[in-house]
Amino acid sequence: MGSVVDAVVVGGGPAGSSCALQLARAGLTVTLVERATFPRRKVCGEYLNSGAVAALDRLGVLNDVRAQAYALRGVRLVPPRASSVELPFTGGALSCERETLDAILLRAAVYAGVTVVHGRVEDLLRDRERIDGVWVRNDDGTAYEVRARWTVGADGCGSIVARQAGLTRGSWRLPRFAVGGHYTGFGDLGGFVEMYVGAGAYFALNPLGQNRTNVMVVMPKTALATWSGFVDEGVAGKAAELGRGHRSFAKAQRIGARAAIGPLAHSVRAPIAGGAVLIGDAAGFLNPFTGQGVFLALRSAENAALAIVSAARNRVCESSAFADYANERRADFAARKRLSAAVGWLIDVPLLARRASAKLARQPRLAATLIDALAGVRSPESALTPAVLGELVL
Ligand SMILES: Cc1cc2nc3c(=O)[nH]c(=O)nc-3n(C[C@H](O)[C@H](O)[C@H](O)COP(=O)(O)OP(=O)(O)OC[C@H]3O[C@@H](n4cnc5c(N)ncnc54)[C@H](O)[C@@H]3O)c2cc1C
Repeated sequence: MGSVVDAVVVGGGPAGSSCALQLARAGLTVTLVERATFPRRKVCGEYLNSGAVAALDRLGVLNDVRAQAYALRGVRLVPPRASSVELPFTGGALSCERETLDAILLRAAVYAGVTVVHGRVEDLLRDRERIDGVWVRNDDGTAYEVRARWTVGADGCGSIVARQAGLTRGSWRLPRFAVGGHYTGFGDLGGFVEMYVGAGAYFALNPLGQNRTNVMVVMPKTALATWSGFVDEGVAGKAAELGRGHRSFAKAQRIGARAAIGPLAHSVRAPIAGGAVLIGDAAGFLNPFTGQGVFLALRSAENAALAIVSAARNRVCESSAFADYANERRADFAARKRLSAAVGWLIDVPLLARRASAKLARQPRLAATLIDALAGVRSPESALTPAVLGELVL
């Protein structure tokens, strides 16, 4: 490619496209490398929490997204041995198919001046200790380099940028897998996401329209391995088990391809290295149960773009701008992990689940605290205080 750009962004998901867009709007030259041909499918529950919706608004793409999205009212949680509870969303949560959302964001990036190239990043370029670009392999097997002052790893769970920068950390948890797709035949869910939980697995229904539903089953790999050749039956069986009669697949029909992904695990030592920043899932993957992924992708993209623009304009030196980004990300991510774990306990332990669902049904203020903390409307710590946790379970 010859010349050196200010930034090369690897990956055109919500993190990559939105970061590239903000860098280009700030006047930087940006190349985005994406291995998939858009519009492309992404395995996801396709729920956008109100924090993600607010971030899309700041990017100026919310009207385009809203025109193709579906307004959500809340989540109906069905724990294993407790009554179900409806938690209303406090802000404007949406559901939007990822083919649509990601294409809107990538188009906006192109419109802002980002050069998008199709290819697979295979390695990083280095100048002594510093990363200064990437090696890209084309579909025809030829390879070329893109040199850049800054490299942004937005290549999702299992990021090659994280791995080649030596930032990936092994995970000790048993990995889980997700299988699902789009279905008709579940009828009107009334604008509620439904989550059925039990035994380390969950089954989620997210309405994408009047008669179109995102269905996702997330479970340990061992269960998936037994479905060989009968995956649709396996999904329906697991969903029936977790749904405990609340929902049936009797009239459900899959539209389009089945989607499967795993292992759902990716962890990094740090989200920065000399000349490189990791954002979105590449900077660490959070259990998808609480639906914070797209919000976190957009938020980390926003913060990383601020750090890169500050360094580019010599407002602060790169190491200090990147360290600020890394510290904020680490603290926020750790708190969100604790919050997800706390929600997991509240659902998995029958006594806690019974108490928490009764309290949440009776006390809308408590439910709003939890929903807002998960959506980034307030800090995750605000739902992790002894007062809030005590109120939920005592
Ligand atoms: C089962 C499941 C359900 C989920 N449900 C929700 C939900 O309901 N709501 C929510 O907010 N989040 C959800 N998430 C999380 C959400 O999908 C992710 O957090 C989000 O997609 C992260 O965005 P990203 O841009 O970081 O990565 P991605 O969306 O994964 O984008 C990464 C991009 O990088 C490209 N890429 C990868 N490697 C290379 C390479 N070597 N070279 C070039 N390009 C490359 C990929 O093709 C892809 O386009 C869910 C996740 C899973 C697995």
